Amino acid sequence: MNPDKKGMFGKFGGKFVPETLMNALSELEKCYKKCVKEKSFKNELTYYLSEYAGRPTPLYYAKRLSEKINHRVYLKREDLLHTGAHKINNTIGQILLARRMGKRRIIAETGAGQHGVATATVCAMFGIKCEIYMGEEDIRRQNLNVFRMKLLGANVINVTSGSRTLKDAMNEAIRDWVTNVRSTHYILGSVGGPHPYPMIVRDFQKIIGLETRRQIFKKEGRLPDYLIACVGGGSNALGLFYDFLRDKKVKLIGVEAGGLGIETGKHAARFKGGTVGVLHGSKSYVLQDKDGQISATHSVSAGLDYAGVGPEHSYFFEKGRIRYDAVSDDEAVSAFTFLCENEGIIPALESAHAVAYAIKNRRKLGRNRLIVINLSGRGDKDVQVVSDYIS
Ligand SMILES: *Cc1c(COP(=O)(O)O)cnc(C)c1O
Repeated sequence: MNPDKKGMFGKFGGKFVPETLMNALSELEKCYKKCVKEKSFKNELTYYLSEYAGRPTPLYYAKRLSEKINHRVYLKREDLLHTGAHKINNTIGQILLARRMGKRRIIAETGAGQHGVATATVCAMFGIKCEIYMGEEDIRRQNLNVFRMKLLGANVINVTSGSRTLKDAMNEAIRDWVTNVRSTHYILGSVGGPHPYPMIVRDFQKIIGLETRRQIFKKEGRLPDYLIACVGGGSNALGLFYDFLRDKKVKLIGVEAGGLGIETGKHAARFKGGTVGVLHGSKSYVLQDKDGQISATHSVSAGLDYAGVGPEHSYFFEKGRIRYDAVSDDEAVSAFTFLCENEGIIPALESAHAVAYAIKNRRKLGRNRLIVINLSGRGDKDVQVVSDYIS
């Protein structure tokens, strides 16, 4: 659905930002609404998605995974995209908007570095100045991606406030934007943040589900029974689910990071342990204490390790249209190694959460179901983490 005039999906979303950003958000919304109607914009977007990023991505029948869990499982191969994840769908879309708005400088936040790399990539392609905010702790943990961003010509800004992770990087990026709003576009990386970002990022990711619908009909002649995707901010999941929302028979399942277990408090499962609050400009489910202090989160997968979730997910959670569950670090790492050994695919640890859900719940899903799992990214970035984890 589209948000109302205030940017709300029911009671979630909105624009909880400083007054100085209201104009920039309106400018972005206006530009976006105009661009999506223009044939030239659509053509340009399609051109870069196919020629530069590698769309359409395959919908691959995973034979050995299917045999293991007694269902027919297809993997939507977003891991095969340029830069190795679905994030490029959004950064291509937003850089084209930034160019139309005449912005000369791009900023972005990044946690694991994947969104930073995808942003630095499109900035290099168009020759636009790029600065990436990243927490000191994440810079330490994700050194390879930091170097990648630098190779691509971006300036990586070390954020030393708070817990020195994604949430603090996002605070700093918003602060920068307030100061430099005329020259600068902020490329937000998921379906969170103030309106219109949740709508825009979702729309740029919808291509995943649009392709999946066409591909599954061609291969199986029918709708799938289940769509499964991991949920960090929630962009790859909404991207896959969106075109199927009206198909009531298709069950949609979002998988959050269960970390060390919900009962330990060391997780990032907003729909298990969260309450409604405001974080980074929008109202949604948030992991917070009773005074509204944002909780520390934990996940083996950096891309899912965030206290907030996109507001439209909260809307569909309360409506019951999308179901949410969590799998633990252990379960995700097992699914990671299973996919490596049995399909020859090294998945991102984020995506491994979605695979783990299907393996864990194989009996509960019914009999011989048709399942599509979104493989949101490849796991080259995670091999060191997994190596440390299993040794
Ligand atoms: C960033 C990332 C995610 C989490 O972000 P969403 O907005 O929830 O999609 C998931 N998978 C991969 C591979 C990522 O890089």
